[in-house]
Amino acid sequence: TKYVYRFGGGVSDGGKGDKNLLGGKGANLDGMASIGLPVPPGFTITTEMCTRYYDDGEVFPDSVRAEVANGIAHIEGVTGKKFGDASDPLLVSVRSGARVSMPGMMDTVLNLGLNDETVKGLAEVSGDPRFAWDSYRRFIQMYSDVVLELDHGSFEEALEIAKEDKGFNLDTEMGAEDWQALVATYKGLVEEQWGKPFPQDVNDQLWGATAAVFGSWQAERAKVYRRLNHIPGNWGTAVNIQAMVFGNMGDTSATGVAFTRDPATGERAYYGEFLINAQGEDVVAGIRTPQYLTKQARERAGAKPASMEEAMPETFAELARVFDLLETHYRDMQDIEFTVERGKLWMLQTRSGKRTAKAALKIAVDMANEGLITEEEAVARVDPAALDQLLHPTLDPKAPRDVLAKGLPASPGAASGKAVFDSDTAEKWAELGEDVILIRTETSPEDIHGMHAAKGILTARGGMTSHAAVVARGMGRPCVSGVGTLSIDAKAKLMRVGQREVKEGDIVTIDGASGEVMFGAVATVQPELAGDFGALMVWADKVRRLKVRANAETPLDCRVARDFGAEGVGLCRTEHMFFDAARITAVRQMILADTEKGRRAALEKLLPEQRADFTEIFEVMAGLPVTIRLLDPPLHEFLPHEEAEFAEVAAAADVSVDTLKRRAAELHEFNPMLGHRGCRLGVTYPEIYEMQARAIFEAACDVAAKSGEAPIPEVMVPLVATKRELELMKDVIDQAAQAVFAEKGRTIDYLVGTMIELPRAALKAGEIAEVGQFFSFGTNDLTQTTLGVSRDDAGRFLTTYVDKGIFPRDPFVSLDIEGVGELIWLAAERGRATRPDVKLGICGEHGGDPASIEFCEATGLDYVSASPYRVPIARLAAAQAAL
Ligand code: ADP
Ligand code: MG
Ligand code: MG
Repeated sequence: TKYVYRFGGGVSDGGKGDKNLLGGKGANLDGMASIGLPVPPGFTITTEMCTRYYDDGEVFPDSVRAEVANGIAHIEGVTGKKFGDASDPLLVSVRSGARVSMPGMMDTVLNLGLNDETVKGLAEVSGDPRFAWDSYRRFIQMYSDVVLELDHGSFEEALEIAKEDKGFNLDTEMGAEDWQALVATYKGLVEEQWGKPFPQDVNDQLWGATAAVFGSWQAERAKVYRRLNHIPGNWGTAVNIQAMVFGNMGDTSATGVAFTRDPATGERAYYGEFLINAQGEDVVAGIRTPQYLTKQARERAGAKPASMEEAMPETFAELARVFDLLETHYRDMQDIEFTVERGKLWMLQTRSGKRTAKAALKIAVDMANEGLITEEEAVARVDPAALDQLLHPTLDPKAPRDVLAKGLPASPGAASGKAVFDSDTAEKWAELGEDVILIRTETSPEDIHGMHAAKGILTARGGMTSHAAVVARGMGRPCVSGVGTLSIDAKAKLMRVGQREVKEGDIVTIDGASGEVMFGAVATVQPELAGDFGALMVWADKVRRLKVRANAETPLDCRVARDFGAEGVGLCRTEHMFFDAARITAVRQMILADTEKGRRAALEKLLPEQRADFTEIFEVMAGLPVTIRLLDPPLHEFLPHEEAEFAEVAAAADVSVDTLKRRAAELHEFNPMLGHRGCRLGVTYPEIYEMQARAIFEAACDVAAKSGEAPIPEVMVPLVATKRELELMKDVIDQAAQAVFAEKGRTIDYLVGTMIELPRAALKAGEIAEVGQFFSFGTNDLTQTTLGVSRDDAGRFLTTYVDKGIFPRDPFVSLDIEGVGELIWLAAERGRATRPDVKLGICGEHGGDPASIEFCEATGLDYVSASPYRVPIARLAAAQAAL
């Protein structure tokens, strides 16, 4: 097997740029080299080698040693320098690169190949001893941290002390001798902590670093990231070894990171930061405040230091040309890393840039309008789940705000919560159900779990491309970074802004769109859903086959759902209508009545109320189907549970307290979920369903008479297990319909169907379809009854089940496709065999879950039904499922 692929200097071994083999970074370095962009020459050791390395017990086969030597020879050939040559040494970087980018998860070593001899050669050929010694101290520091795993704090401390001794503030003030002295200190630290001198053999350095990159694949923080992002542990990482180019060679040199479009807003404007006379991660680390890339961005921010466009106009123009080439080549917004060495631009990385949901939407729509991608590709590119961010409220611009400070708007969205100053507390409090804002001086990969648990992230340091900003955008968490006026005391668990203090547990609000940090909670407003969002939805609707309905039971919910594009109501629950304070007494009288006559008297009072409910809903959903589920919960849910309430309720219902108590005791159930509920209520008390059916048809006739547009009621019987149950209930419903139509002098089209939420119903769907005209898969109950897991009790063990891989995801969130899915598939097949046009839909949480929707498309259901706010998500997911 070939384990090493070369790139640069006119060579590109990678061919089509297989990310699985070369990792994302390696594949794109090869890709950039192949389209003629300036990439320092190098080679990639494949992910297959990483897997083999672990299989073989963490050793390298001889063959790969020979291949690596070849790779080094390739770099030497292109650069004309020799690895380990004391007069003109080749230096390389050793970089990790997994299939998908794992920001900050894997470690990189720069300036490898320096030792006590080559540093002198470097000083000589570059004519810049300061640069040479700066590079050497950087190398020792990184190598000691990443490869030798020594205490990096002690190295940082030594640097701080060295600067303090000199009275310097900035690294850039350090001269050649200062760096040289620091190198001696660093070497002392290495011997002290490692027990051996710093490795001087450049090949030892190279293999040490390579093994460390492979080793970092199994680092704890990498494992956490993989778990959170569902990345398999056996993918492995590639290693990229590449000639160094130097951004720290004086004022004509620089290093930077950039996006080809704005990753926060999606605006078509180059976006990024750079630092003159700096190397590698200096920009991201927030050691110095980086400068803007473009003049426009600098002016907008009201910043002084010259932008790259102003400071290095020619190199900037070259960079802009590269941006355009990259976007045309990769047909997506790119996130790039570059270095300028004495005026010459070098590209060090490109990848599809992480972006906020808002930016993802805008970029997809813009690129389709620009003709760079098709409308269908635009539809495919937006993550439906990420739309969630756009569909939820932002800060009310008119609400009063007590602004404490302002930082960079690093990741949009607004969040309020209790201030916490460390990630463990953030996680702990979030588990207790608290909203928390994680506040850190800056974040590092060790904070991933805390960032995940927090509603928002606030940092005192770091730019728009700092760790906090990048990770927050990826997670969809609002983030404000680089709030210079904050002083955070993590030990004392507080922060100060001027005279003011925020302690752990105080409520703060951050606005990731403006960068504002506020004391207390701030009111929010609904988002606007026109523009790009509307355009994408139109394209999605063109390719979508599945209809999308909403689960809605109030006129307001129906309005929201219709505005979001719902094509009907898939589930209108009726039980909540019974809890209304004005009606509950009549409901209780009905339950407490001993005779049918008594029940009918109470139901008589409920009829006009129920009719009014449906009238309002039908008016909003005019012309669209509305599935109404008849009463489902066990009756005792409507009776009081507290001793204190009994007297009052008894009086209101006009019965004695004893009668009430006796009846409550009679209705008590050991397992209400499997008790006297659903159609079992209708079978025992048909008059309840009769009243509901009557209310539905009266309302439908009234709306048809008034507006001329008849609604299409679909009357749904819950918890059916057998054909006979549905037959009985259908008779009740049909008779009510005939009676109402006769009274009103008009007929309305309607359907009678059932929920499929019991395994028996799914199995006997063929028979049930003889009676039922539609099935709605009630996947919440179907999941409970199929798995024998109660939703209300599952919390205690389901996370463990997911962690141990028993379920890939929580089956109440994402359908258990193998098990519950098979029942749905079977029921659909059997139902259609009896009644080819049986209407099939799904309601329940899964109707808004993209993975479940994909399954519904594959099974050929007619529609999915989701909560109103998830309707757009479902529309997009349904379109993607159809692509
Ligand atoms: P990460 O995956 O954490 O971004 P990288 O491998 O991209 O790590 O390295 C981080 C930074 O190191 C790069 O952005 C770049 O600035 C610098 N770097 C890496 N390789 C080189 C090189 N060959 N020459 C100059 N700088 C380099
Ligand atoms: Mg890194
Ligand atoms: Mg990088």
